[in-house]
Amino acid sequence: MAWRSSGTSNAELVENLWRNKLITQPLVKSAFLKVDRAHYAPSPSSAYEDSPQPIGHEATISAPHMHANAVETLLPFLLPKVEPGKQAAMGVASVKGQTGRPRRVLDIGSGSGYLTHVLAELVGDTGVVVGLEHIPALKRLGEGNMAKSAEGRHLLESGRVRFRVGDGRKGWAEPSPAGAQPGVGGPAATNGDNGETTEDNKDEAGGWDAIHVGAAAVELHEELVRQLRSPGRMFIPVDAGNGWEQYIWTVDKDDSGNIRKERLYGVRYVPLTDAPKS
Ligand code: SAH
Repeated sequence: MAWRSSGTSNAELVENLWRNKLITQPLVKSAFLKVDRAHYAPSPSSAYEDSPQPIGHEATISAPHMHANAVETLLPFLLPKVEPGKQAAMGVASVKGQTGRPRRVLDIGSGSGYLTHVLAELVGDTGVVVGLEHIPALKRLGEGNMAKSAEGRHLLESGRVRFRVGDGRKGWAEPSPAGAQPGVGGPAATNGDNGETTEDNKDEAGGWDAIHVGAAAVELHEELVRQLRSPGRMFIPVDAGNGWEQYIWTVDKDDSGNIRKERLYGVRYVPLTDAPKS
C-alpha cells in the first residue's frame, strides 16, 4: 500500500496518499499540499516518491505515508483550539477540556525539517513548533530546507518554528518568549516545562500538546510523558526489545493527567541514540 502513493509532483503525491486512504482528513491534506517535499528531500528526482531517503548522518527523511499517519494521529492536538461545535464542522473531533492556549508541538529528530513544517501549517498563527535534533548539522539542514520557501522563512522569522539542538530523550523546555531567539538553538530552560501556566509566560507555557518522535526509542521515555500537557498526545516508535521489531505507540494524557498507552503497528525507524562523537 505504502509505495503505491508515489507521484511526479507534490500535488500528485498528496492526491495518491489521499486516494490510498493514508491521508483521510481534509485539513491534513491541505497542510501537505502547502509544503513542497522537494525542499526537504535529498534529490529532486525522488522527492515525490513514497519512500524513506537518506539525508546524511545515518538519518533519513521518513516516507510520506509515515508522515501522513503521524499527522493524522496527532491532529486533534495540533489544531488551534476553537469552540467544540466549530471543530466538528472542520471535520475533526473536538478534544474535551481544551482551553484557548496556543498550541505547542515538539518534533524530536526533526531531520530534514519536512514534518516540522507540515506540523506548523496545522497549529495556526499562534502555535509554536520546535524541531529538536541531536546532530547540529541536521538542525542546520532542517532550518536551511525551511528557508527555501517564502512560507518557511516566514515561519522561522516569526519564531513559530524553531530548530534546537538537544537530546530528544530528555524532551525540551523552550525558554520563555523574552529570551527566545527565533530559529536559534540554545540550552533548555528548566522553567515551566510541565504544562504549568504562569502570568509571565502564559502564551508559551511549558509542556507540549503533541510530541512527535521521528526515531525509534528503547522505551516510552518517562520524561517525554511528563512533558505532555493534559490533554496531550505523543506519537513514538519504540523497539520491541527483540532486536528487530519496532511499533508505533501513542501515549495520551487526559484532562486529569491519566496516561493511556496504545501499541499501533509495526514500523522501521532509525534509532533514537546518543549523539555521535564529533
Ligand atoms: N522526521 C525526520 C526523521 C529523521 S530520521 C524526517 O522525516 O526528516 C531520525 C532523526 O532522529 C535523525 O535526524 C537523527 O539525527 C535524530 N535523532 C536520533 N537520536 C536522537 C536524539 N537522541 N535526540 C534528538 N534527535 C535524535
